Amino acid sequence: MNRQRDIAIIGAGPAGLAAALFLSRAGFTPTIYERFDEPKPVGSGLILQPTGLAALDALDLLPAMLARGSRIERLYGTDAGSKRVVLDVGYGGYGNGRFGLGVHRAALFDVLHGAVKAAGIPVVTGAEITMLRNSGDKIELLGADGRAVTAAGLAIDASGARSVLKPKASRGNEVKPLAFGALWASLKWHDDGFLANALQQRYERASVMIGVLPIGSIKPGAEPLAAFFWSVRLGDTERLFADGLQAWKDRVAGYWPECQPYLDQIADFDQLALARYGHHTLRPPVAERLAAIGDAAHSTSPQLGQGANMALLDAAALAAALAAHDDTGTALAAYARARRRHVALFQLLSYALTPFYQSDSRLIPYLRDTLVATVAKVPPMPALLAAMVSGALLNPFAGAGLNEPDWRSLPPASAS
Ligand SMILES: Cc1cc2nc3c(=O)[nH]c(=O)nc-3n(C[C@H](O)[C@H](O)[C@H](O)COP(=O)(O)OP(=O)(O)OC[C@H]3O[C@@H](n4cnc5c(N)ncnc54)[C@H](O)[C@@H]3O)c2cc1C
Repeated sequence: MNRQRDIAIIGAGPAGLAAALFLSRAGFTPTIYERFDEPKPVGSGLILQPTGLAALDALDLLPAMLARGSRIERLYGTDAGSKRVVLDVGYGGYGNGRFGLGVHRAALFDVLHGAVKAAGIPVVTGAEITMLRNSGDKIELLGADGRAVTAAGLAIDASGARSVLKPKASRGNEVKPLAFGALWASLKWHDDGFLANALQQRYERASVMIGVLPIGSIKPGAEPLAAFFWSVRLGDTERLFADGLQAWKDRVAGYWPECQPYLDQIADFDQLALARYGHHTLRPPVAERLAAIGDAAHSTSPQLGQGANMALLDAAALAAALAAHDDTGTALAAYARARRRHVALFQLLSYALTPFYQSDSRLIPYLRDTLVATVAKVPPMPALLAAMVSGALLNPFAGAGLNEPDWRSLPPASAS
């Protein structure tokens, strides 16, 4: 399979947009196909980890992101009853100045989509791709009516966790739904009683988790926002809605009274988006003339906050592999190899950590609050945990063709 320059990318999420930019810079001709009539971000906020920030830096988009985001130095969690600190992981534990960046999804989308437009990369909207079919030396993208929308030398499935285009022969094709999801809202940031540079969480065992993440603003200079979330067992959502908004607000305020200014901003359950999580890892994430990246290749709970970052790493790694190898099959195998160990480790860690924060277990959160909280303070654990939350274990930068920025020389984020 000789290298072909025309590449069809399905999905205009972080993975698809970043892949288009990396590929365009490497001399390929990408086109994005997006099912929505207007490409748009879904959801509230997320943390860009040093891995994702390094990918944005390679695209010269780090200053634009820093101008919108809120610098995150720590992950900080307390027990609702005892108020004991049970999670305190600092990015600084690794000692090279790394940090996370809380961002609104719309800000990440705006920056990537703006760059795609500026690069003149075509985005075909209202194009839901339902099937892929190999035909000669091309792969065809079929729409909902079964007709070919286009044909390209390579298709990149960046259509997210619910992809219907994943390589069929790969293991890990089925997404396992997780029992807990979360209600999310983007609200005006209030610093009274909150740390401006931390993801703060409050827990009761693992059945209750409330979080407040500063996410900066959607446009530079605009009003700073926070992502507010409430973990919920999906089977309990109907009862929660039936009990009414005030009953839920009273519960939240009971666990964390300082949240009242956030609760006051919520007038209707419609302001909260229910996120459901699933877990799958495609092995390998490639087939003939097809590569899966981002959530299409691996989805999980957001407990470790790596999803969008892994999507950006995948995009960089795939473009680097395609640029390095003339033969497309060899390039796809190189991409799968470059990401295999890092993806496997972080999928495993995310899966293993989820019951510590979202489950009905009494024992697991007890261990979290006693044993784990104590061990976490003993060297080399702070450095190891800092590398883990950064997404930097197993050095994913090299495999993706990325260099870490000089973190200490970067300008402060907008809301720092
Ligand atoms: C509540 C929540 C919190 C999270 N927090 C974090 C965090 O803190 N840090 C982090 O890194 N990650 C986090 N994540 C995960 C992160 O959001 C995802 O990993 C990331 O969005 C994946 O990007 P993607 O581009 O692969 O997929 P998506 O963002 O899902 O984008 C897929 C795109 O493909 C389009 N599409 C889908 N199907 C088709 C089709 N058939 N044809 C054409 N277009 C199609 C969709 O409309 C969409 O635009 C969180 C996720 C959730 C739900």
